Amino acid sequence: MVLRPADEDTGFVLRRVDLPGKPEIPAIADNVVDVRRATTLAVGNAHVHTVEHVLAALYGMGVDNAYIELDGAEPPIADGSSEPFIQIIREAGTVPQTLTRTIAYIDQPVTVTQEETTIVLLPEENYRISCTVAFGPGFLTQFYSTEITQKSFVEELSAARTFCPDYEEIESLMEAGLIRGASLDNAMVLKDGAIISKDGLRFADECVRHKMLDIVGDLSLVGHRLRGHVVALKPGHPSNVALARNIREHMRVERA
Ligand SMILES: [Zn+2]
Repeated sequence: MVLRPADEDTGFVLRRVDLPGKPEIPAIADNVVDVRRATTLAVGNAHVHTVEHVLAALYGMGVDNAYIELDGAEPPIADGSSEPFIQIIREAGTVPQTLTRTIAYIDQPVTVTQEETTIVLLPEENYRISCTVAFGPGFLTQFYSTEITQKSFVEELSAARTFCPDYEEIESLMEAGLIRGASLDNAMVLKDGAIISKDGLRFADECVRHKMLDIVGDLSLVGHRLRGHVVALKPGHPSNVALARNIREHMRVERA
C-alpha cells in the first residue's frame, strides 16, 4: 500500500494499481458493496475490502485528501489497528490546504436500528463518539466516550486492535485456511468469557476502543469532516455504513 497526496477536495480515493487501467474507487458510502466482517468498497469489478483501519488513520490524523494505492484487494492488516498507518502518515508529513475544509452537519438526529444494534448521530458542535459493546456468554460490557480530535484519536483509539468475539469461529476459519488476517498476531479473541491476545491488552477496554476506531473509519465514508455526537450500542460495519449513508442523505455541507 502506498499513500499519495491528492488535490484539494479529492477526498480519499482507493486505486487498484494491479488491475488494468488502475481503477479508482472514491471512499464514500455509496460505493460500499459488502459489510460482513469488514467494509468493502467497489466500483465495477474493482474491489477493496477492510478499508476501515487505513481510512480511520487518515481521518484521525486530520488528512482530507489522499490516494490509497494498493496492489491487491486489501490494505495490509498490520497489527489489526490503525497505529502502523499513523506512523507512515507522520513520516510522510501533511500539507495545509488553501481551501477551507468541507464539513457535514445534520440538523436533526439520524438513527439506524438493526437487530441488537442502535447507532445515532445527534447534532452537536464537535465530533464525539460514545459507544457500548456487549458480547460473549459472560456479557462482557465496555463503554467509552471521547471527543474525536487528532490527539484523542492517536492516543486513545488508534492502537486498539481488531476484536473477534467468537474463538471457535476463528479457529475453524483459520484451520480451513479461510482467514489469515484475524490470527492472534493481530487480534484479540474472546474465549470462555475471557479476552486473550498474544501480547496482552493495550487498553483494559481495547474492544470498545477498536469499535470506535471502526466507526471513525466507516463514518469517514460520509466524505467530509463530521460534526455531531455518535451514540452507538453494539455497533458493527453494517450499522456504521448504514449511518454513513443516512448522514449523506440528510447532511448539510459547508466550508469552515
Ligand atoms: Zn476494525
